[in-house]
Amino acid sequence: MCFAWWLEARLVVVIVERGSKLVLLNPDAARVFSFVHGPLNSDCIKTVGRFSYGMLITPKLLCAAAGLLLLMNSGVATADHHAGGDKLKVLLIDGQNNHDWRRCSPVMKSTLEASGKFSVHTETVTEADVIDWIVDFSAYDVVLSNYNGKAWQEKTQKAFVKYIEEGGNLVVVHAADNSFREWKEYNLMIGLGGWGGRNEKDGPYVYWKDGKVVRDDSKGRGGSHGRAWEYKVVVRDTEHPITKGLPKEFLQAKEELYDRLRGPGQNMKILATAFAKGGSERHEPVLMTITYGKGRIFHTVMGHDSKSMLGVAFQETLLRGTEWAATGKVTFPPVTAEELPVDKALSRDPKASRSAP
Ligand SMILES: [Zn+2]
Repeated sequence: MCFAWWLEARLVVVIVERGSKLVLLNPDAARVFSFVHGPLNSDCIKTVGRFSYGMLITPKLLCAAAGLLLLMNSGVATADHHAGGDKLKVLLIDGQNNHDWRRCSPVMKSTLEASGKFSVHTETVTEADVIDWIVDFSAYDVVLSNYNGKAWQEKTQKAFVKYIEEGGNLVVVHAADNSFREWKEYNLMIGLGGWGGRNEKDGPYVYWKDGKVVRDDSKGRGGSHGRAWEYKVVVRDTEHPITKGLPKEFLQAKEELYDRLRGPGQNMKILATAFAKGGSERHEPVLMTITYGKGRIFHTVMGHDSKSMLGVAFQETLLRGTEWAATGKVTFPPVTAEELPVDKALSRDPKASRSAP
């Protein structure tokens, strides 16, 4: 009894010979692509970190490996892992933030994983780690940034830009848009940012007025907010996959609302806004999408703390936005006005997050 196993950047492929039949597995999700054979008992699949392995049932290691190479060369084994109903791989980056990332990251991880659609790996990058930290971004469908800290080393920045340019994807949550003022490509990816000394040199203020997007070049700091309250989110693009299935207006749980963000704002769509009462007194972007190269970016300013992340508004938009960034589609069912009302701000246990179809 042994397994032939083989590592590739995106997934571990295990090939098992059962009698004369070959079974190709994606054990990361313990799911079988049954090209030839039916499902194998997933109990024999072990996972260590984000890699999985299993045991070969016959001693014919060379034979099985040759079979695998044959499948690889024929293109069968490179079947898109989305097509197999596999989970979308999310890389959550945290470890430095002026917000409570230790409490916030688990809420996002639970929200995503409870849907059954995502598997989340977390990289915690502390000040000590950041000097030489690097990760294989290409192993993930989407990067979820909860990071607001020191600059990554140049090698890591280049790898990240290459990943996004070539079709990698990004979700930016709240203070992740405070990061990296000096990193030009990152600011193009996030569209708008705040703090970190941002001002008119970083791009215009971008907000919503009279049914249109305004780009305002006036001087001033980038990033501020008023007091925390339950703010009303208004959908401005009802046709985008992220917002199409949402009520037109809904309330987010009590938290601060970012305003006066500024940045290049290129290739950016504003999907939803909220009026910054007691702040800028403008309709400020809350949900945005940006494209950079072939990459899709979803940017949400929601998510100030672990309590407001329990908001149904935060959770539903995180689920839909993360799926859209990873795949370009949203398969979650529409959210009704009862589930996400405008007259009260509902919260819920992230483990009760809605299931993917
Ligand atoms: Zn905040």
